[in-house]
Amino acid sequence: MNSIVEDIKARIDIIDLIAEHVELKRAGQNYKGLCPFHSEKTPSFMVNPSKQIFHCFGCHKGGDIFAFVMNYENMTFHEALSYLSQKAGIKLENKSRNLEVKSGFKENLFAIQKEALIFFQNNLKISKQAISYLNERGLNSETIEKFSIGYTKNAKYDGNDALFNHLRVKGFATEHIKASGLVNFGEHGTYDFFRDRLMFPIFDLQGRAIAFGGRILSSSKNAPKYINSPDSIIFKKGESSYGLNIAKNSITQKGYSIIVEGYLDVISCHQYGFTNAVAPLGTALTPGQLKRLKRFSSKVLLVFDGDSAGISATKRSIELCYAEGMIVKILLLPKGEDPDTFLRKHGEENFRKYMGRAISPVEFLLKVSGRSKLDAVRYMLQIIATCPDSLQRDETIRELSDRSKINELTLREELNAIKKNQGSRAKIQERGRNQKSDILNPCIYREEQMLLTIALSFPDRAAPIANKIDPMIIEDPVIRGIFEKIKKGLSMEKLLSVCDEEEQRLITMLSINTEIDEEYVEANVEEITEGCLKAIALRKLERQIKSAGEAGDVKLLNSLLFEKKSLSQKSKLLLKGGNLAKN
Ligand SMILES: [Zn+2]
Repeated sequence: MNSIVEDIKARIDIIDLIAEHVELKRAGQNYKGLCPFHSEKTPSFMVNPSKQIFHCFGCHKGGDIFAFVMNYENMTFHEALSYLSQKAGIKLENKSRNLEVKSGFKENLFAIQKEALIFFQNNLKISKQAISYLNERGLNSETIEKFSIGYTKNAKYDGNDALFNHLRVKGFATEHIKASGLVNFGEHGTYDFFRDRLMFPIFDLQGRAIAFGGRILSSSKNAPKYINSPDSIIFKKGESSYGLNIAKNSITQKGYSIIVEGYLDVISCHQYGFTNAVAPLGTALTPGQLKRLKRFSSKVLLVFDGDSAGISATKRSIELCYAEGMIVKILLLPKGEDPDTFLRKHGEENFRKYMGRAISPVEFLLKVSGRSKLDAVRYMLQIIATCPDSLQRDETIRELSDRSKINELTLREELNAIKKNQGSRAKIQERGRNQKSDILNPCIYREEQMLLTIALSFPDRAAPIANKIDPMIIEDPVIRGIFEKIKKGLSMEKLLSVCDEEEQRLITMLSINTEIDEEYVEANVEEITEGCLKAIALRKLERQIKSAGEAGDVKLLNSLLFEKKSLSQKSKLLLKGGNLAKN
């Protein structure tokens, strides 16, 4: 397996791979960009071309191309392997292909969703009632196919557990079926989560079914109109948007996405040629959904109902878009209309014309605020203050001044006051977040980290350094673990693939550590190594002296003190070059 991983790494350059998703700029030996894994205004995401690794100094994610793909695309290692091997043009052997299908809980869940998708689609083909409903709603067969729409009721298995029986016949384990969320395991037995519903599958960006939305068909029933699969290992409601797998290319081409409220709105939009439409999943829009959308375009057109629920949903969505630095426009449809009904009534041409009436957030808030103009202005300032993009902030302030007739300077003063307030709140949160791991604090195990840094910066020295070190003297468990691996003679390329996530983070952090003066370290590497080893040994001695003193063991204490004295004398010279950081 390792040789495939190495082959792939040799063919795919990490800079090329990451540059497909993140705008990278050269910064010394590294490339810098805005981290795709957390929101930030100034880049702390670094990629190093010579070591082929990345590290974010904000959220501490780091690793090689595999770690990047697994994090970015939310893939398992085997999925990343098959994805990257395809990209590299390397054929995977059958052995690893099978592994990909059979191994792992996650793969089984994907297989179950796929099986359910086929099952629902086949049910639809034989249900006159469901088909006639879809026809009434104006959906053509091409659209039904494109969105893989299905139906739950199955004549062969009469009862409430048609899908469950089908999945069992297909040989899926109960624990996997349970985890899929498609079947309820209650006190009174098992029954399908979705029954007598039109099924709208939800796909991830790779086009794999990960969940379903179901619309009730018989209106008489006392059940909710729409329900969605519960969250699972492969499905997070707050991160997926309906239709994005189909709309993503069109969003990039058209330069914006259309966000509508419901599944049928998305489907209608696509059928009428508005192929950049997506929807949140039955809930309000979330930051996670916007982050994904932003990968394809940072411009958004919100299309909501003009009723009061639509207006408050729009307000909340504007807040989220600004916080993500996304540019947003709003299209309010006439009361009682949604994109689906509007398109069917008035057609594509009129919808396009109507889209020309889209308004800015400032216009929208002033329009819906009625007589309380000042409240609307204050609210808009609060929203602007969260925006990470200074140009967008500037432009919105100017527009707000124009439309509200309030002096621009006054607005800017007010904005600064709000930002000061928010800033101190954010700092407190930030502090809380940073208090997690000692290992990322360079002061505690300074010498141990220095040794590891040297080993990572000068790979040809790694083995000799590791051989000098008895891993047992290393106090930090993560650093000790890494040294044990280096000691086994692993090459630097292989090292990352055998390390766990915490070890990978530390390795990438130290490898892209911009505060080390590599020239100085290289010129003095022997001395520094010796110095670090001595310092570590001294620290250990001091601890032993302390416990010998506490235990009252005079004999041991004397011999330890003697040992310390001779060690200190020897190391005095060596520790002189202790300041390793650049000025
Ligand atoms: Zn980050």
